[in-house]
Amino acid sequence: MNYRSTRDTNLSLTAAETIVRGLSHEGGLFVPESVPQIDAEFLPQLRTMNYAQRSAAVMKLYLSDFTADELAEYTKATYANFYTENAAPVHRLDGNTSFMELWHGPTCAFKDIALQILPYLLTASLRKTNESKKVCILVATSGDTGKAALEGFKDVKDTAILVFYPRDGVSDVQKLQMQSQQGSNVSVCGVEGNFDDAQTGVKQIFSDPFFAEKLAEKGWFLSSANSINWGRLLPQIVYYISAYCDLLNEGVIENGEEISFCVPTGNFGDILAGFYAKQMGLPVKRLICASNSNDVLTEFFHTGTYNRNRPFFTTVSPSMDILISSNLERLLFEMSGKDAAYITSLMDALKKDGQYTVTPEIREKLDKLFWAGCCDEAGTKANIGRVWADHHYLMDTHTSVAYSVLNQYRSAENGQEQVVVVSTASPFKFCNAVLEGLNHPGDGDGLAEIEELESFTGVPAPAPLAALRNAKVRFSDCVEKEQMENVVSKFLCC
Ligand SMILES: *Cc1c(COP(=O)(O)O)cnc(C)c1O
Repeated sequence: MNYRSTRDTNLSLTAAETIVRGLSHEGGLFVPESVPQIDAEFLPQLRTMNYAQRSAAVMKLYLSDFTADELAEYTKATYANFYTENAAPVHRLDGNTSFMELWHGPTCAFKDIALQILPYLLTASLRKTNESKKVCILVATSGDTGKAALEGFKDVKDTAILVFYPRDGVSDVQKLQMQSQQGSNVSVCGVEGNFDDAQTGVKQIFSDPFFAEKLAEKGWFLSSANSINWGRLLPQIVYYISAYCDLLNEGVIENGEEISFCVPTGNFGDILAGFYAKQMGLPVKRLICASNSNDVLTEFFHTGTYNRNRPFFTTVSPSMDILISSNLERLLFEMSGKDAAYITSLMDALKKDGQYTVTPEIREKLDKLFWAGCCDEAGTKANIGRVWADHHYLMDTHTSVAYSVLNQYRSAENGQEQVVVVSTASPFKFCNAVLEGLNHPGDGDGLAEIEELESFTGVPAPAPLAALRNAKVRFSDCVEKEQMENVVSKFLCC
């Protein structure tokens, strides 16, 4: 199985090359040349496996240059570090609604599912491509990605990781999670400003050829850990298929029965993994795309026009505060019949005018597969309180956005099918908004609010968040955007 770029289909790379490169040289994203199909024996086999085994079996279909043994080893080591036996357990809420909880990993957000295994995939890919330089992962984070990448790459041989977070843009809990990071090859640094400032700074470092040369002389090259890398997307396809197996095993659905997934969406990585699962032949009726007040995707699915020229809102579901959903490019590539020239023209328009409009044919195809809605701040909080009151189930702000949009979908479409809501973070990562939703506002101190939420609900906080009480800050530096490159130099001793 080889991979090609969404903007240059003449390119053909192995999986290992794809994972090492991350992004194609002309700016396109890598996609598999064809989507492997789930045959009649595959699901029955998967149903008897644990999560790590399911993950190895699904990823093997895409990673033909990896052996089954390699993948079994990586997935076993990765998912043994999760706090539940199944890394993606499905919690039934009522007759036709379930939550797939993806936040039982070491950092309590769904990013763990892929970022804890990416270091294995990346270091193996470096060996397979005979890369002799060491890799430094550079991350700009709005909170969850940074911590998950730090945990994944800490003490991994021949790698280093440096995370920049916006000083004013992450929650108290998220900040302390990063500042107290353990490991000998890690560093964390605050940046004056918001997420855009940190992100722009990192992009500038990546696009500086002189800096790359200087690092290369010292035996380093830079790579990214965000969801444009296929190695981050692939492990996410697994949990859609795994949830289907679990519902079959519990007798909730029958063989072949179509279900829908409702996904809180930011960069469009998570929901795109669901799209690939459907393309593989998983019986999926609809993928429901849920946004917060930053409703650029809702508008896109309703009108066919993607327009980033709009106000940016800072919300209580910050991991979805995004105006350019990078992975949408992969979906449009597949929907356009793999037309790289067409995708290039859309992305050029997005860069130049901040917007593009897709053809009526593509819109029609999207309408069949997707449904989209959004939820504002008041709705997000209110829903947390309502679901707690009705079901005694505690959910975080991102999951609440998805659940609200699911209710909209059911009223609009009268859908009766089983729906799995993708639950992406522990409620204890966003205590402040969750407590407000429960009508029991806290005092604004992140750590104290963890205990407040525990005692008010009787739900225990996940162990890694409870342990923050005794965490020691290792990294408290904060720099201006212009200083970020110096921070990288110093960190790598270049
Ligand atoms: C990253 C994130 C999302 C959005 O996922 P995308 O793949 O960017 O669409 C949703 N919820 C949480 C908690 C996240 O960390």
